[in-house]
Amino acid sequence: MTANTSRSTVLTGIGTLVTNDPTVGEGPLGLIRDAAVVFDGGVVAWVGRADSAPAGDVGHDLDGRAVLPGFVESHSHLVFGGERAEEFAARMAGQPYAAGGIRNTIEATRNATDEQLEANTRRLLDESLRSGSTTVECKTGYGQTVAHELRSTTIAASLTDEVTLLAAHVPPPEYAGRADDYVAMVCAEMIDACAPQAKWIDVFCETGAFDRDQAHAVLTAGMAKGLIPRVHGNQLREGPGVQLAVELGAASVDHVCYTTQADIDALAQSSTVATLLPGADFSTRNKYPDARALLDAGVTVALGADCNPGTSYTTSLPFCIAIAVRDMHMTPDEAVWAATAGGARALQRADVGVLRPGARADALALDAPSYLHLAYRPGVPLVRDVWRGGELAWSAHTGHEKARALR
Ligand SMILES: [Zn+2]
Repeated sequence: MTANTSRSTVLTGIGTLVTNDPTVGEGPLGLIRDAAVVFDGGVVAWVGRADSAPAGDVGHDLDGRAVLPGFVESHSHLVFGGERAEEFAARMAGQPYAAGGIRNTIEATRNATDEQLEANTRRLLDESLRSGSTTVECKTGYGQTVAHELRSTTIAASLTDEVTLLAAHVPPPEYAGRADDYVAMVCAEMIDACAPQAKWIDVFCETGAFDRDQAHAVLTAGMAKGLIPRVHGNQLREGPGVQLAVELGAASVDHVCYTTQADIDALAQSSTVATLLPGADFSTRNKYPDARALLDAGVTVALGADCNPGTSYTTSLPFCIAIAVRDMHMTPDEAVWAATAGGARALQRADVGVLRPGARADALALDAPSYLHLAYRPGVPLVRDVWRGGELAWSAHTGHEKARALR
């Protein structure tokens, strides 16, 4: 959904520019101080020092603010009905999280109208945009019948290019105690119906959801229809999810909170990204993943917000960056990279998560001189301007209406 523009835009007065291109600036983030960026035709045309910037048709002086690539949200569940605030409150009062709460959302989603589901998905995409996410992956998974998953896939595909068929989230109530039968139906009918509108196939491989063999069956059936695998794994305990993801060459395995050394070694030797979702661990009081062990072993790490109504009802990657730095011992540089370039790796995208000539002109400006403030000033809405495809998609000055008008 790149918007083309015939006018070039020059952003000047950038205090610190994060390019994620180490060939043009310092460190892994490719930092350039006193920088400028030129957008033209929906893509980045030039990056460099402001004193050598070419002229453009439209100029924005950012008065020393930081500019980053737009966040790449690689894990979200936005097509759903209802909400589960009371379940959250009960959990905070001491009740443990189990995968079965998903069934409450399945019921609410099945009971929602098409219009309600689409409006809720748009609302959450707008919310993501306002916190700087310019690419958002969106999973189905709250229908769990052919018709309801097809409806969710259709809504997601109308709003983003990154559609994931979460065909096997939990066995729905009508298949209680018959998970193998549900998997057989998914492989025989659901994937056939939904694959044309999706890019990814996903499965929740966890006790209470689907075991290794069931997850393997769903993922390979999706791959046979041209979908690329990604896996929810090792969220609540050690298990087969990480090894299955690596074995199938999945783009990403997500959560990764409980890992053995063998899991970490397997990830380090693979191209599978470990996508960490600290909002879910925060909201369930789960153990955070051992990000340091993963990073120090050489695993590629992404950060996602995992927006969903049960376990992580946030769309804010800045919030996740703050947790990753404070509680998972990632450096601010690692956390910012993971929420931008890392997310792009998890979605196998080379055109986003980076500001280099030819990349999509997706960027954000902070009301702060440095990206360090994302972790240093937790909870503060620092995202001031967001460009998508070279167009100003949201600004703290113009508010929500601008975001809606552009979609
Ligand atoms: Zn998820």
